[in-house]
Amino acid sequence: MNLLPFGKLPAAKPRKFVPETIDLGDWLQIAPLFEQLEALAARAKNTADLENWLLAWSELNAALDEESARRYIAMTCHTDSAEAEKAYLHFVEKVEPQLKPRQFALEKIYAVHPLQNELRKLGARSIAPPGSDAISRSDAPRSSRRYEGFDRDLKNHVELFRPENVPLETGEARLCQQYQKLSGSLTVKFRGEEKTLVQMGRYLEEPDRALRQEAWELVAKRRLQEADKFDDILDGQIKLRQQIARNAGFGNYRDYAFRRLGRFDYTPDDCTQFHDATEKHVMPVVREMQAQRREQLKLEKLRPWDLAVDPLNRAPLKPFAHVGEMVARTQKIFNRLDGGLADGFRQMDDLKLLDLDNRKGKAPGGYQSTLSESRLPFIFMNAVGLQRDVETILHEAGHAFHALATRDEDLYAYRGAPIEFCEVASMSMELLGNEFIEEFYSAADAQRARRVHLEGVVGVFPWIATVDAFQHWIYTHPDHTRDGRRKAWLDLMDRFGGDVDWSGFETARANLWHRQLHIFLHPFYYIEYGIAQLGALQVWANSKRDKARALDDYKKSLALGGSRPLPELFQAAGCQFEFSERTIQPLAKMLREELEKQ
Ligand SMILES: [Zn+2]
Repeated sequence: MNLLPFGKLPAAKPRKFVPETIDLGDWLQIAPLFEQLEALAARAKNTADLENWLLAWSELNAALDEESARRYIAMTCHTDSAEAEKAYLHFVEKVEPQLKPRQFALEKIYAVHPLQNELRKLGARSIAPPGSDAISRSDAPRSSRRYEGFDRDLKNHVELFRPENVPLETGEARLCQQYQKLSGSLTVKFRGEEKTLVQMGRYLEEPDRALRQEAWELVAKRRLQEADKFDDILDGQIKLRQQIARNAGFGNYRDYAFRRLGRFDYTPDDCTQFHDATEKHVMPVVREMQAQRREQLKLEKLRPWDLAVDPLNRAPLKPFAHVGEMVARTQKIFNRLDGGLADGFRQMDDLKLLDLDNRKGKAPGGYQSTLSESRLPFIFMNAVGLQRDVETILHEAGHAFHALATRDEDLYAYRGAPIEFCEVASMSMELLGNEFIEEFYSAADAQRARRVHLEGVVGVFPWIATVDAFQHWIYTHPDHTRDGRRKAWLDLMDRFGGDVDWSGFETARANLWHRQLHIFLHPFYYIEYGIAQLGALQVWANSKRDKARALDDYKKSLALGGSRPLPELFQAAGCQFEFSERTIQPLAKMLREELEKQ
């Protein structure tokens, strides 16, 4: 039974290494391919052999990745199907754990391969040897720096590995799971009904202020009841993380995390500049937005439960009635924006690579997934007719355009870019698409939608700075006490919290970070969104000066995939890879002017 929304997809490339008939859910059929790759690497006599070996490995990775993606898509589209769940879990439990050590073995083989340096110096061949069409005629850049990024990331991975860290990482994962279990288990009794904290979120948008306060307080108090447990989890994680860093030869976990996240192109100091520039140039805009909100709500002071409600008590925006309408209107936006992008979106619709409606039996949320072997994107959503859905489809379409742009790239690793740039692709599309959001709205509603979006863009900078700076502090003061930690957090709330009156709720304010899962689950992984937003805002600023050129640069930069380091990807998109006030000040100025227009 086919549980996928799409049928047979056009192949990007015929397979040369992976057998057509293989069952990629059966480890016993997969394992021999790893053995073959190990043997082939040992037999490689020249750089051409090694390059073909890399392409065979790439082909296998893409096929496995697509197998996993297809099983995930089938499961999220049919949560009520036992068959789909079983197939997905089988892959996660029986295939993935076997893959990891085998992949790592290949990485080690390549990292010390006698021909690897030679291949790197040589770059990619532009002409395939006679009788072989193993190397594509792709348009991907073929320079002597072809393998620089690939080698750097792979070697980094191999170099950081310490066998003694494996049990520590298992312990860390256990604590992560405890955090998820604790957070997910919290409920409150609200007006006679048991509600999860996520469900409580919507009451913060209610016009009735007393109701908002009641809902907010209930949630804050519920979290505070578990404050010690949240602190216990983080204390345990800090201890383990410090040891992991020391084992790998680093003085502190921050420096280790930077290396492990592959941050070769920016330093902790650059992040500090981001924090400082956000404080100096974005916070004044945040305070103006807050002052306007306070006046519109006719309040003396903004309280924590006054931040999500529509300040003019209007009914929610209604961009569309059904999903077919959403797709048609989004298509019109892309038609007006760029012919090439419009074709890409139409192709996705034609191939049924869009599953966007909210229906029974679908998992919640939204995502973009790439079918790595077909080299085609898929978008999953649960659209119900809100402005949020319009933001989501534009965002995910940006990711999808990124995947389509790298279709000609044969090296699997280069078909994906670093997250700092992937989010430039998607966040730019929100800003560029919003220019034509009249396809969904009257002129007045379009203004309102753009304003809500821009307020979100501005508002996320201080929170990113807070979460990031907090973690820099934590891991460079490893012997801190819980009180010291709370003090560090409160200092950041003073810098980045704006004009919100928390009196009576000081303890909730001091523990607000308990709700930010990244601090627990993905340490240091957050600034990426700030860096990407700076890129997206620059793309948007460029498009105001010269739309055609900005879109051309945007598309060219997407086509580079992960083949170039971050500063070059940004440069190709017409942006600076720089996060000090030099970049942030003019963008904050633009945001203020745009907000005044809406
Ligand atoms: Zn995204």
